[in-house]
Amino acid sequence: MPVVDVHSHYVPRGWPDLAGIAGGDGWPMIRVDSVSEATIMLGDKEFRRITDACWNADRRLADMAADGVDVQVVSPTPVFFSYGRSPRQAADVAALFNDLALDITAEQPDRLMPFCQVPLQDADLACAELDRSIANGHRGVEIGNHVGDADLDSDGVVTFLHHCADRGVPVFVHPWDMPQSPRLDRWMGQWLVGMPAETHLSVLALVLSGAFDRLPESLRLAFAHGGGSFAFWAGRADNAWHQRRDVVGADSEHPPSAYISRFSVDSVVFSDAALRLLVDVLGAEQVMMGSDYPYPFGERPAGDVVRRATLEDSDREALLGGNALRFLGMTGE
Ligand SMILES: [Zn+2]
Repeated sequence: MPVVDVHSHYVPRGWPDLAGIAGGDGWPMIRVDSVSEATIMLGDKEFRRITDACWNADRRLADMAADGVDVQVVSPTPVFFSYGRSPRQAADVAALFNDLALDITAEQPDRLMPFCQVPLQDADLACAELDRSIANGHRGVEIGNHVGDADLDSDGVVTFLHHCADRGVPVFVHPWDMPQSPRLDRWMGQWLVGMPAETHLSVLALVLSGAFDRLPESLRLAFAHGGGSFAFWAGRADNAWHQRRDVVGADSEHPPSAYISRFSVDSVVFSDAALRLLVDVLGAEQVMMGSDYPYPFGERPAGDVVRRATLEDSDREALLGGNALRFLGMTGE
């Protein structure tokens, strides 16, 4: 059984000036600092320092070998999603980055499996870019957990998710564009508090809106970072659904815990107790190894928490690879 990491990111070593391609200004740029180091810039602000692990396939494969990982799902870095731009601008940027991702994964496409990005603010353009990318070799899609003030239950996103289900394409949901405030801007609060809360809200939006009632059960959907706060607070959400059906439970047929089989989560939680909570609440078949490689808030060695956790051997095997093969639609291969 191959060991599969469902949560990693890439950044190309360079890209053309996005203002020249898509128009507008304030686009992410890359500042090359050395052969193996660069910085993603937003205007004149440093967004994130990165290394060649973001773009160098040999470096990635060496790190995978060191960590005992056979397959990596290679997803976009959310700063490039561009959902706040015009649909056409976002479509142009998505196409550019999706093609650059294939350059990184081209030599080992069965070990580095690219997931594409789409202009999620426009369902038609998103479906078209998905189809183009899948035809070119992408194996799934990563989407952000919201489009401005629209959550995953918005008409456009649900249309896109239907399309993914129809095409048998797995969808990985990543938090991004977290709320900013003086309180959340200290100590990386957007990452430590905002991301888990955003992901929790996204799961609840699909449940409480009734979107899961309307979406086909064949949709293969996974949430990053253990599904954020959802597993810990599923009981609170269930209680609220029963106590305030007029408000919380008006649009969904069942309480939140009834939808747990409809999605998976990754294992990027860094703690044995948290991983066991995911397995207890969601079930061992709903949790997949992920690392968030190669970023500082990622896990190295990838899969460490799964390997060390107190789990049945069969559950550990499922978390390390079996569940991911099902998510990726590879169980028949
Ligand atoms: Zn990530």
